Amino acid sequence: MTIDIGRKAVGVSKTIPASPPNIQQALAQAAAGVALRSVTKKYGSVIAVENITLDIPAGRYCCLLGPSGCGKTTVLRMIAGHEDITSGDVLIGDKRVNDLPAAKRSTSMMFQSYALFPHKTIWENIEFGLKMQNVKESERRARVGEILEMIGLSHTSDRKPTQLSGGQQQRIALARALVTRPQVLMLDEPLSALDENLRVRMRTELRKIQKQFGLTFIQVTHHVEEAFSLSDMVVVMTHGRLDQVATPDELYNRPGSQFVAKFMGDNNIFTGKVKNVISDAELDVVQLEVEGFGILYCRGYSSPIGTEAACSVRPDLIHVEAYDPDIAAGSTLAGNQVVARITAVEMTGYVTRVSLMAEATGQELLYKARTNDWNRDFLSEGQLVVLSWSKMIVFFFPIKTAFYNFF
Ligand code: ADP
Ligand code: MG
Repeated sequence: MTIDIGRKAVGVSKTIPASPPNIQQALAQAAAGVALRSVTKKYGSVIAVENITLDIPAGRYCCLLGPSGCGKTTVLRMIAGHEDITSGDVLIGDKRVNDLPAAKRSTSMMFQSYALFPHKTIWENIEFGLKMQNVKESERRARVGEILEMIGLSHTSDRKPTQLSGGQQQRIALARALVTRPQVLMLDEPLSALDENLRVRMRTELRKIQKQFGLTFIQVTHHVEEAFSLSDMVVVMTHGRLDQVATPDELYNRPGSQFVAKFMGDNNIFTGKVKNVISDAELDVVQLEVEGFGILYCRGYSSPIGTEAACSVRPDLIHVEAYDPDIAAGSTLAGNQVVARITAVEMTGYVTRVSLMAEATGQELLYKARTNDWNRDFLSEGQLVVLSWSKMIVFFFPIKTAFYNFF
């Protein structure tokens, strides 16, 4: 006996043994990659998504990350088939699905408001999609029972959604999306309705379930931390376009643009002109001349002298010292040193955020300290300090993307 796991809809007919029925195995085999080829979506004259080409390999946890209105949901809806594509192609597995209706794409969507049917029981909620697919009763019973057991909520099967906590409802919504054995699960801000504690717990759970099932997850979020903690790959979007596609680690440690540097890590951005580039075997060191700050040394790429460029400095890797006028009078500041005045100190728990203003230019800067390391006795609001940093923590960006000021 075999189970049809729904791949026929996308032209990859494959069957797997039904004994023992193992949803985990079935889902892992069903997982498909998703590809976008020059995909554009216009609403009248509004370009919501512009010329996106992207490959999401099967079995990855991919987050679409970016500020509100950048086109994340539109991308998701085009993959799911809830939105027409203006131009370009969407592929699931190897199959172009542009003209396939949503129900035939073997994708499943989990929404922010879980959209559980309030008058149906938990069991009926999960079973609903299988009924729509005309799955026969004995198999429905097996599949719903199995997935309820996996998420640890078998005992709730006779209850109504309102008799469950927010976190439990979220798990039921996930079970309902998975029970039809989709090739790709899409989640649009699935955690944003939850309070902070629950959100962190459910995040861990989502990741665990994705790993357990080996399924392709594509999730929309505007939370950097959420994207970092969940993803194998993060797709950063701005204004309907891709900005950077990378692992969380790469995004944090090697931002590819000013926007990513600012959005991912509160980095300090300096703009100026390339004065010189010194290359050795290991590294190109760019000397960036920044008005009011002199020369800043950055690690970077060879770049034509005289061109406009920018660099970013990690706020947690800066060194801060009290400004000593006696020492300062007799010396000129070395490279990568800035005199600034502390304008605000915010203790946020583990991290203390220190806002500063550069004396020479008035530019706002940010320093992040571990709260226990922050010496509040002699560094406080109104005080002048010297900031310094190593060139190894400075990222240089040729001017290729506009500078977006978000905060
Ligand atoms: P995000 O999910 O990143 O917040 P969306 O994909 O929802 O962004 O929206 C991207 C852009 O497309 C926005 O400018 C939004 O106003 C516009 N948009 C989305 N849906 C529609 C629609 N149905 N009609 C017109 N404009 C839309
Ligand atoms: Mg959205």
